[in-house]
Amino acid sequence: MSSTVEPSPPDAQEQQELRSRHYNAQIIRRVDCHDNLAIFRVRPDGDIPRFQAGQYVALGLGYWEPRVQPSQAESVPEKKLRKLVRRAYSISCPMLDDRNQLAACDDIDYLEFYITLVREAGEPGGRAPALTPRLFGLQEGDRLCMESKIVGRYVLEGIEPDDTLLLIATGTGEAPHNAMAARLLRDGHRGPILMATTGRYIGDFAYRQTHQELMRRYPNFRSLNFTTREPENVDRTHPQYVGKHYIQDLFQSGQLAELCGTELSPDSTHVFLCGNPAMIGYTPPGAPPPEQPGMLQVLKQAGFVHNDDPPTVGHIRFEKYW
Ligand SMILES: Cc1cc2nc3c(=O)[nH]c(=O)nc-3n(C[C@H](O)[C@H](O)[C@H](O)COP(=O)(O)OP(=O)(O)OC[C@H]3O[C@@H](n4cnc5c(N)ncnc54)[C@H](O)[C@@H]3O)c2cc1C
Repeated sequence: MSSTVEPSPPDAQEQQELRSRHYNAQIIRRVDCHDNLAIFRVRPDGDIPRFQAGQYVALGLGYWEPRVQPSQAESVPEKKLRKLVRRAYSISCPMLDDRNQLAACDDIDYLEFYITLVREAGEPGGRAPALTPRLFGLQEGDRLCMESKIVGRYVLEGIEPDDTLLLIATGTGEAPHNAMAARLLRDGHRGPILMATTGRYIGDFAYRQTHQELMRRYPNFRSLNFTTREPENVDRTHPQYVGKHYIQDLFQSGQLAELCGTELSPDSTHVFLCGNPAMIGYTPPGAPPPEQPGMLQVLKQAGFVHNDDPPTVGHIRFEKYW
């Protein structure tokens, strides 16, 4: 008769050994915006590698770490019990330092991350989110793994000082745009730097106050936040009812250009799109365009291009988060 031995998860002592072996960075600050949204400042044990605004790095934690509740139940297969789960995170930027001075990413000695807690799989029956329910259990002083390489092609390339930049994001897709905008302001960029970010509620914009302060200081910087779930978005009887704000509609109607106070034409504007693939309008190569047009389709109709040529004005760049 054969007997099966239940795989045992690492005990407390083995967990400590695994952490010492794999973790190489520390959370030095955690700022919670609400239960599902936080800014984490992470300092690696070694030097911070040189990187460009817009790039990303992988963060990791052991599967043995506890998950915050409520979150989708997860069954960890035996072979993963002592492994790490790693996910990519764009490097954000505080934009203003502790003395309230403009700060780009290379003015600070830590990396800032802007992260949503995903408690449930994106699709019904989907795999339980593995990293964020563990990450949100960490406090200042706790350790984690940060990959040594910072990578990514979603960067400021081919930008002339008077060009317009339109940086469109959903939720935490704003992270690389904070790094880009701070870099541009630091370099004395003269053209308009326009950030447009959509979220469900006004409380979903963690950098709102910082952006407002920067708008007061830099006339060429503008940050617009659009919501989809506030009473004015969903309650038709609301005196300021505007319906759900989708960036595609705002661009097509000309309202976005009006709010930005400038023309958004392919002759002058670089477009960056980051976050939810539906907003981007991403489909895998060879697949038909999405039923609901995303920004890629809307922008192409307006004369913008997405290709592998060296980027210039009129070019669309995107980073999709899933
Ligand atoms: C290049 C790159 C950079 C990224 N940068 C960031 C970042 O700066 N901040 C950040 O929060 N996430 C970022 N992500 C997403 C991140 O890598 C993880 O997928 C996310 O944190 C969820 O991890 P998870 O293991 O908990 O769940 P996963 O199993 O990885 O994801 C589960 C589901 O969560 C949803 N989801 C994933 N990311 C988000 C998100 N950001 N907002 C809302 N829903 C989401 C999707 O439906 C996805 O299928 C980035 C992804 C890529 C590819």
